[in-house]
Amino acid sequence: MSTFKAPKGTYDLIPPRSAKFLAVREAIAAPLRNSGYGYVETPGFENVELFSRGVGESTDIVSKEMYTLTTRGGDKLALRPEGTASVLRAALEANLHKQGNLPVKLYYSGSYYRYERAQAGRYRHFSQVGAEAIGAEDPALDAELIILADQAYRSLGLKNFRILLNSLGDKECRPAYRETLQAFLRGLDLDEETLRRAEINPLRVLDDKRPEVQKQLADAPLLRDYLCDACKAYHEEVRALVTAAGVVFEDDPKLVRGLDYYTRTTFEFVHGGLGSQSAVGGGGRYDGLSEMIGGPALPSVGWALGVDRTVLALEAEGVELDIARTTDVFAVALGDAKPTVFGLVTELRRAGVSADMSYGGKGLKGAMKDANRSGARLAVVAGDRDLAEGVVQLKDMESGEQTAVPLDALVESVRTKLA
Ligand code: AMP
Repeated sequence: MSTFKAPKGTYDLIPPRSAKFLAVREAIAAPLRNSGYGYVETPGFENVELFSRGVGESTDIVSKEMYTLTTRGGDKLALRPEGTASVLRAALEANLHKQGNLPVKLYYSGSYYRYERAQAGRYRHFSQVGAEAIGAEDPALDAELIILADQAYRSLGLKNFRILLNSLGDKECRPAYRETLQAFLRGLDLDEETLRRAEINPLRVLDDKRPEVQKQLADAPLLRDYLCDACKAYHEEVRALVTAAGVVFEDDPKLVRGLDYYTRTTFEFVHGGLGSQSAVGGGGRYDGLSEMIGGPALPSVGWALGVDRTVLALEAEGVELDIARTTDVFAVALGDAKPTVFGLVTELRRAGVSADMSYGGKGLKGAMKDANRSGARLAVVAGDRDLAEGVVQLKDMESGEQTAVPLDALVESVRTKLA
């Protein structure tokens, strides 16, 4: 062990488990690529104000969880705590919204940082794959994203997840509801901090997980009953399109999300196997965000799915991904055969065969142990005498059968045996 450990709240992805993370990222990205979403990658840090303005000064993410730093040049930066604000910033900066048809559809995959109370499923460094459809107000887009997330989870074999759906209204109807909710919350027996939150962002109180708070919220007024006609019609269309696609969801009139920018459609993907960190992904519509960060009006919708928690959910369900990537050929060089065998391994790799070899000058016994451990189906063994005859020994690791193969016929023989 070294003197150092991964920082608190972080962990390393190491083989073989790391292969699951790659597979999950790919499974989430594939349906997006197939639906018109282009890949975007933004820096790991941004101007801190992008998040304080975009995500919201009063959110936990900005007020408690952001990693901020001042550079030697005096710039105030933050490690990105989420992806949407950065992606929208990048799209605006590149004028993507002016260059072609709207919406601009983008997807991303990367690391995010939040100074959280570290626990199972909640880390200070985690990874997400996200999608954003920027610049169009159309229920079909909201529905598309929900359906694509469902498709991604299902393609991985995940079953026990639920989709929760709500509408948060818009600037027409939310203010009146906000006031009604605030009046209701003022009458409850809440601690000081929660009462303060009720004044700044009352909807967030609905999301309080503590049972003593939830009990008091049983009769809280619901936004559902205050939606304006336009929001109601929009929401009904989203519901109808998702339903028609055969995707099952649950209406959750108390669902709110921890970021300020959401309007109308809001959804979350939850999984029962994760304990208290049940959200594996979430998203919604954020029609006002572009203006909040200095851009034009660009109604948009998006989601982010957590890769770490998706892997945990797969493990909780006992799903085995089909990712066993073993070496097909393992080569063993004896005596002075190393340069030739090394050349053959290179040749096999260039021909697309997965090949590895024994390193460190081991004897036959140790090298064959390596070959066994690699799980390879074929071993190539060659010593000085073989090379003098212009052959190598090709051994079937399962049957033990061994044949001499001319050097220049090795790739072909390997291909035939593996086919
Ligand atoms: P959010 O932006 O908070 O809605 O996050 C979207 C998804 O990212 C969540 O549903 C989680 O799967 C994942 N996520 C968020 N925060 C963390 C964290 N601290 N540790 C692990 N995964 C996280």
